[in-house]
Amino acid sequence: MKITHVETLPVLVPLKKGLMTKTAHGEHVVSPYVIIKLKTDEGLVGIGEATLAARWSGETSQGCRAVVEGLMAPLLIGQNPLDFNRLRLPIERCCVQNPFTKAAVEMALWDLCGKVHGVPVYQLLGGKVRDEIPIKMVVGAFPVPKALELAKQFLDWGVKCLKVKVGTDPEADLQRVKAVRELAGPNIPIGVDVNCGWDLPTARNMLDRLAELDVFFVEQPIPQTDVNALAELRRMSRIPIMADESIFTLNDAWQLTRAGAVDILSVYPGKHGGIASTLEIAAVAKSAGICCSIGSNLELGVGTAAMLHVAAASKTIDSERYPADLIGPLYHEVDLLTKPLDLGPAAARVPEAPGLGVELDEDQLKEYADASTAARELG
Ligand SMILES: [Mg+2]
Repeated sequence: MKITHVETLPVLVPLKKGLMTKTAHGEHVVSPYVIIKLKTDEGLVGIGEATLAARWSGETSQGCRAVVEGLMAPLLIGQNPLDFNRLRLPIERCCVQNPFTKAAVEMALWDLCGKVHGVPVYQLLGGKVRDEIPIKMVVGAFPVPKALELAKQFLDWGVKCLKVKVGTDPEADLQRVKAVRELAGPNIPIGVDVNCGWDLPTARNMLDRLAELDVFFVEQPIPQTDVNALAELRRMSRIPIMADESIFTLNDAWQLTRAGAVDILSVYPGKHGGIASTLEIAAVAKSAGICCSIGSNLELGVGTAAMLHVAAASKTIDSERYPADLIGPLYHEVDLLTKPLDLGPAAARVPEAPGLGVELDEDQLKEYADASTAARELG
């Protein structure tokens, strides 16, 4: 079998009206993605999703397409997709960074491998360690009334864990977390995500005060640039510290764990350039005696499916202890799939069909096509 064509389909999908979100990085109202199709001479098609956010990884739809078409397609066309390990290295090395673009191509290869063997991707990873993956929903960094409205909507639906975005203004942050804690009661675990929004003195002060509100983890309290400062915070904190913006690469995992800087690594295939790299990072965490948790860049259907397979197959990605952010499709107008994923309210389930186990909705792909940059096929 050979890969014959590489197709890139840029789309723009708005968040649902009531669910547009806000973090210390800014407001999020519409999400750009590039869907990748790897076509073979035997008629099988592998699909992947690049979840793009310039403020997050520096990647854009135009840049993603330039990398896929200019650097990756020539490496892939004519190759057997079952030679996964042989294809992986050149894809990783064809450019620095661009993790979400690399992950899109990598997940399309996994999808093809699963379809060829007739098994879901989690089976290729050694099988499931859990049937249900607990999830949490995210309350944006809004003023108290709006934050409470969102939290109430999630709790009414049956959500069992919440994450509150903070990192904009310390006093407003505390008021928001306090209000959500009072609404949710003592039995709903609540974490916070600072998205790099505090400096070290603010974080020291805030960690003490958040401990009084029974917060069960604090994600990325300070910018990603200083591993030693993160380690200092961890030593004084009563609350476990999670790295998110700090952990993209395998080397980041090594630096963070060697410094004893965090208790949890937030991981997902897009951020690390694929499913295989995510599992390698989980192995570093395991060796350091810490765990991982599934984070998110608000993936759509295909990207979330890749996360589900990793989450189902890894014990170190401890979703029972730190529920996963398997939530992107719930926030968007459409998921680009013919059949929605089984997400929430308390837990998600991994698709059972071969490969990633999802099918693209071609009508939605057309309807949400990014008008500024049309679909193209090389081959
Ligand atoms: Mg985060």
